[in-house]
Amino acid sequence: MAVIRFNALREVYGRKPVAFEPPSLLTSDYFGVNVFDKFKMEKYLTGEAFEQVMEAIEKGTRIDRKIADQVATGMKAWAIENGATHYTHWFQPLTEGTAEKHDAFIDLNADGTVLENFSGKLLVQQEPDASSFPSGGIRNTFEARGYTAWDPSSPAFIVGKTLSIPTIFVSYTGEALDHKTPLLKALNVLDKAAVDVCQYFDKDVSKVIATLGWEQEYFLIDTALYNARPDLMLTERTLMGHASSKDQQLEDQYFASIPERVSNFMREFETECYKLGIPVKTKHNEVAPNQYECAPIFEECNLAVDHNILLMDIMRKVAKHHNFMVLFHEKPFKDINGSGKHNNWSMMTNTGVNLLGPGKNPKTNLQFLTFLVNTIKAVNNHADLLRASIASAGNSHRLGANEAPPAIISAFIGSQLTRMLDQLEKTVTTKKMTPDEKTELKLNIIKVPKILLDNTDRNRTSPFAFTGNKFEFRAVGSSANCASAMTTLNTAVAEQLIEFKKDVYKLINKGVKKDEAIFQVLRKYITDSKKIRFEGNNYSDDWKKDAIKRGLTNVANPVEAYDAYLTDKSKKLFVNLGVLTEREIEARNHVRLDIYTKKIQIESRVLGDLAINHIVPTAVKYQTMLIENVKGLKEIFTEKEFREMASGRLELIKNIAEHVKYIKAKTAEMIEARKVANKIEDEHEKALAYSKTIVPYLDDLRYHIDKLELVVDDEIWPLPKYRELLFTR
Ligand code: ADP
Ligand code: MG
Repeated sequence: MAVIRFNALREVYGRKPVAFEPPSLLTSDYFGVNVFDKFKMEKYLTGEAFEQVMEAIEKGTRIDRKIADQVATGMKAWAIENGATHYTHWFQPLTEGTAEKHDAFIDLNADGTVLENFSGKLLVQQEPDASSFPSGGIRNTFEARGYTAWDPSSPAFIVGKTLSIPTIFVSYTGEALDHKTPLLKALNVLDKAAVDVCQYFDKDVSKVIATLGWEQEYFLIDTALYNARPDLMLTERTLMGHASSKDQQLEDQYFASIPERVSNFMREFETECYKLGIPVKTKHNEVAPNQYECAPIFEECNLAVDHNILLMDIMRKVAKHHNFMVLFHEKPFKDINGSGKHNNWSMMTNTGVNLLGPGKNPKTNLQFLTFLVNTIKAVNNHADLLRASIASAGNSHRLGANEAPPAIISAFIGSQLTRMLDQLEKTVTTKKMTPDEKTELKLNIIKVPKILLDNTDRNRTSPFAFTGNKFEFRAVGSSANCASAMTTLNTAVAEQLIEFKKDVYKLINKGVKKDEAIFQVLRKYITDSKKIRFEGNNYSDDWKKDAIKRGLTNVANPVEAYDAYLTDKSKKLFVNLGVLTEREIEARNHVRLDIYTKKIQIESRVLGDLAINHIVPTAVKYQTMLIENVKGLKEIFTEKEFREMASGRLELIKNIAEHVKYIKAKTAEMIEARKVANKIEDEHEKALAYSKTIVPYLDDLRYHIDKLELVVDDEIWPLPKYRELLFTR
């Protein structure tokens, strides 16, 4: 067994970096070459088709059949010229990652010859045989078919020899079976609600987009070592492994110089990203050994979500060229930092104004304040739902483990803004303000932009932090599809903005002047949402107590966190705004629970197997070696000499026996507990049983296995150790 580990290590030590030279062009010369973007559309489409597609992108209008045929013809011409032979509808089912089924462009002529064909019908809608994707019961009940439908707002692109067309994925009855469908609906309602509110400040605003700039953390592990760890291969995380004597305690990894091999890998995936129009910009070493991060320039939210999921796919593929495996799991290694995916989010108008960017004059500043306060209020309204939107088996290892925010949602805005909100809360009263009071308030608000520019207040422990001109949702897991968090956030903010408009309208109807009505409503919101604002250390134990006193929740268990989707408040949010129907909400929760159960089930099986067929035999083998040695000593030495010499060894033999006994017994118990859990019919109860009765065994077994790793002869230990996984480069 150990042979595998040593062969893997030999392979790693023998590796030379695979050189990669990016094209000797300026990035701007090849950026987006593989994307059917606006410029290519203009070139390859008829004027009429181009206009309709642009209108569909900007206003969400429908594209008629005749035009779809024209678009398909243009897209095909461009794709074939660029070497594509196949096309696929590219979609994001409720599993992780993306799905694609490739079809060749060919059709048969009557005489048996072949021609390249691609019609509007094939572009607009397809029916993949997708009965194996999770639907939460939606498809079993009525129709097994699923449909994919073109999303013109995210441009088609070529990967390899395939033209990929971003699509939504819905059931025969129109219910969403993917991440994209509700996201698009959420973005649409946010657009309308935000434009409505912007009318108070600027009549030229006719469109508001949500913007998203994600930061993606990941680990790189050598392929040979990865392949020698069945737990990594099957669960993406190490289920055992004692901490390395040195890991991140010296804080010498963060922003350190990037190893050459890693650098080559980064250059290659960046190049592939640029070809696909993904504007990756920043990269650096993260805190843990072998952990890295990359971030693009922010984009429109739907496009940014597609680009993130596409990037993850590209990274996995490119990593293989450099003999790396990319780990996106939230906690691949115990005792060192896990990986997150910060979601930087804001809203931007068609007039180019960032609605969370402090303005330059009182008017734009009141607009900024309006969107800031409404966002905080939205987070306050739906904190539990936001928490649910980032819950997963993987992320539960990370949240609250002193490296990421706890499962308590709160918002940080920095001392200057806090002072400003406090002042606003005090100044404005329901009675009419004096002109002096108004002037003072406006003057104070004018001061904001300057102050913010000089003072980039940071609180790295906050799950939802204002960072100057955007909010950063930091609790998102590294393997997650951003759509889940973004759908929830955008819907919650849309609902709040609609509410705001109503509240202001009520006051205006009573004769209150517009600006003052806005001030009064904001003031009330500031008071109402005070409990969600927290400026202190989110990692501290005091905060956990304080948060509960404030009425905030701290739901550590993802299965329980998912319940927030099913409350009347959450259903009302999604249903009233037309983002998800009640049936879709319930179906999605079934899928989440099912995925959770299966992930823990797989981890438990893998750990059980490894414990019994890797660890126990190794420990027993070493124990036998010790016994042989003790027997030999006994033959050679006098009784007295022997006793002195062998006492430690005898202890060790006993110690190994105890761990082995414990591991065997606990593994058997865990299997029995699984059998009990598997019999539970109700998905929620079953997932809960897995979280409460199986997860503890994973930690417990690991403890004893890790103890054995410390005492068993290194030469026969079968699995690559943490120091090898994390430090061989
Ligand atoms: P950090 O210090 O957190 O790394 P950066 O300034 O590097 O902050 O930005 C992180 C991410 O935030 C980048 O992806 C960036 O494009 C994004 N970002 C900046 N402004 C906005 C915005 N208005 N909306 C959304 N994302 C933004
Ligand atoms: Mg950041």
